[in-house]
Amino acid sequence: MTKEVILEINQLLSQPKKVVIVPHKNPDGDAIGSTLGLCHYLNSKGHSAVVIAPNDYPQFLKWLPGNNQALIYESEPEMAQRIISDSDVLFTLDFNALHRAGDMEKPLQDSQAKKILIDHHQQPDGFADFVYSDVAMSSTSEMVYHFLDMLGEKNAINADIATCLYVGIMTDTGSFRFPSTTKITHLVISDLIEKGANNAEIHNAIYDTNSYNRLQLLGRSLNNLKVIPELSTAYIALSQDDLNEFNFKKGDTEGVVNYALSVEGINFALIFIEERKEGIVKISLRSKGNFNVNAFARKHYDGGGHINAAGGRSELSLQDTIDEFISILPSYKNDLTS
Ligand code: 5GP
Ligand code: MN
Repeated sequence: MTKEVILEINQLLSQPKKVVIVPHKNPDGDAIGSTLGLCHYLNSKGHSAVVIAPNDYPQFLKWLPGNNQALIYESEPEMAQRIISDSDVLFTLDFNALHRAGDMEKPLQDSQAKKILIDHHQQPDGFADFVYSDVAMSSTSEMVYHFLDMLGEKNAINADIATCLYVGIMTDTGSFRFPSTTKITHLVISDLIEKGANNAEIHNAIYDTNSYNRLQLLGRSLNNLKVIPELSTAYIALSQDDLNEFNFKKGDTEGVVNYALSVEGINFALIFIEERKEGIVKISLRSKGNFNVNAFARKHYDGGGHINAAGGRSELSLQDTIDEFISILPSYKNDLTS
């Protein structure tokens, strides 16, 4: 962001404002951590800020400070619409196109509020008045830290803000191991710990609190793993029956695709998850090295994301989705095995 833009935003926020902060649909740790972190900051400065998530999010994120004040659009659409249309400033965090906000797309589009985008995904759409987009960033939560720094507000980061931002950075970097993790990321994390984020407690709350069913579903996922060594590809498919059998809850399949990517020699991994009620198959794509899953997800699955992590969907049946995948994969042989 240029000095001029920062000045304009500082000017905009110099009086108490009604602010709505929005993460993407199916929010993950980074989406919830960045929005709640920013929300704590704005409220501490006398604004009236609220997080409105398009739909619900996993239980393992429900302990975050400020979680109780967040609204779920899907559960209370009328109230959420009123708050959005009444707002002065709208932050959109961790997504690059309004349709990623699901049913909130229209109310966000119609809103007259000043829109500020903070995001690290590829190719942002031009819907915001102020854009802070950087695809080299580990996470949107790290960007919120830099944003507060640019505003000259690093000292306003308290333990609640630090905790939320820590969660976002930790989850989006696979606990600081993905290539997007930089020296700066570690410096930010160091400062967040200094400001009150309890790293051991946070790690425990996010990763070491599994239900028995979730572990059983992980077992099924690993049993369903298929490897195509000649194309350096591995994938997992989960049917709605698999999910039902283990009483699937939102978040239970988070991170499972990484097991497929961890197979020796594999550069491209996917998980296909049937969502029978919505009539779609949700797809998560991951890669190692140069294979661009953002491009693959955009081309085949109406999705997108980053070079090494992306998502999308298919409207075919689970079996047809996989059959189609198997038929298109060989045309990527050079990219997958070079
Ligand atoms: P996940 O596989 O964990 O759902 O998503 C991986 C990454 O891709 C995340 O950064 C997520 O925000 C992004 N992503 C997931 N689904 C979509 C989608 O449908 N469209 C776009 N543009 N990005 C997505
Ligand atoms: Mn993110």
